[in-house]
Amino acid sequence: MATDDACLFCKIVRREIPADEVLRDEHVVAFRDLNPQAPTHVLVVPTEHAAHLSDFVASAGGDRAARFLSAASEIGRRFGRDGYRVVMNEGPDGGQTVHHLHAHVLAGRHMTWPPG
Ligand code: AMP
Ligand code: ZN
Repeated sequence: MATDDACLFCKIVRREIPADEVLRDEHVVAFRDLNPQAPTHVLVVPTEHAAHLSDFVASAGGDRAARFLSAASEIGRRFGRDGYRVVMNEGPDGGQTVHHLHAHVLAGRHMTWPPG
């Protein structure tokens, strides 16, 4: 499996640092965000390192890409009341702070739009 030694989320994938996991399989790990922005705030990460969505779609096969999306949906449906929100921040303008692709799954409250 291609992971990055220095990457925070790769360390969670390798279980080198603890996380409150809600789902794990061959393709994805999902765990609760340390700084939750909703009653449920889970991060879904591919088990192989890709910094950005664009790198991931270039390198991941269809099964991996499909699992990334289906895991986000599974978590949203598990924890959401009447819907949920999935967010991916990319690059400086997107507000990305951890450079391992992740989908934020936010649920358990009504969301507003536009986001900040
Ligand atoms: P982003 O700003 O989209 O890159 O999101 C990174 C997210 O990772 C933020 O919401 C952080 O609160 C969260 N985060 C950072 N370190 C950890 C960690 N060790 N365990 C869980 N969540 C983390
Ligand atoms: Zn990584």
